[in-house]
Amino acid sequence: LLSARGIRKSFGDNVVLQGIDFGVRRGEVVTLIGPSGSGKTTVLRSLNGLETPDAGTLEFDGGPAIDFARPVPPKQRLAMRDRSAMVFQQHNLFPHRTVLENVIEGPVRVQRVPKARAVAEAEALLERVGLAEKRDAYPHELSGGQQQRVGIVRALALKPDLLLFDEPTSALDPELVGEVLHVIKELADEGWTMVVVTHELSFARQAADEVLFMDGGVIVERGAPADIFTNPREERTRRFLDRIL
Ligand code: ATP
Repeated sequence: LLSARGIRKSFGDNVVLQGIDFGVRRGEVVTLIGPSGSGKTTVLRSLNGLETPDAGTLEFDGGPAIDFARPVPPKQRLAMRDRSAMVFQQHNLFPHRTVLENVIEGPVRVQRVPKARAVAEAEALLERVGLAEKRDAYPHELSGGQQQRVGIVRALALKPDLLLFDEPTSALDPELVGEVLHVIKELADEGWTMVVVTHELSFARQAADEVLFMDGGVIVERGAPADIFTNPREERTRRFLDRIL
């Protein structure tokens, strides 16, 4: 579905990504783990067009290869952005809009889906994550876990090829983490393609097809969770896992 090659990004003198290569197949769950500041979020944002790499190429199935060494034509940038939807660490819901209004915003305004259809689809998605009865509530009336589930529904409503999760549970109280991970795990089981930046290694272990360990702007090691977690080859991976397991 997606192939990224040689992605580089600096902010001023700070070289954040030093040439990242990876691919994601349709239906696959890829998790990105690694210490704070290693560049995980910047990788995700580069896939979604929120950040423009300095160099490298990105290719989605059926789309043209985007070469960041050259200015990216606006049309290509928009096409790339539409392939994925991001779930942020903080849900980023509009505070003065109801749950339903938040969910239909993208489909109706950006994708020009007729409102009645967008509402019906939003209701079905809210039902799936157990929030049907909250459709007319405002974000502040929900728990953090419920807000984050609405954030996930909002991404699903865009019907992207690829879901990007940026530490979706790290802003939550510990007792709310499980319900959100459960929803993400169900989506993975249903065959959604996703890239998940997470510190929840048990989630990565259960749900990921491939784990990428990043440190200092490079992918140090990659493999199936069983290999990475039980038998890491690299010293840096071992040290990271020892610290957080
Ligand atoms: P964390 O787990 O803490 O979110 P991360 O691995 O996701 O870390 P990034 O958020 O990608 O790491 O950040 C990598 C580096 O890039 C950091 O040094 C950060 O300060 C820097 N950085 C990220 N975004 C910007 C920006 N917009 N402007 C300047 N520097 C940035």
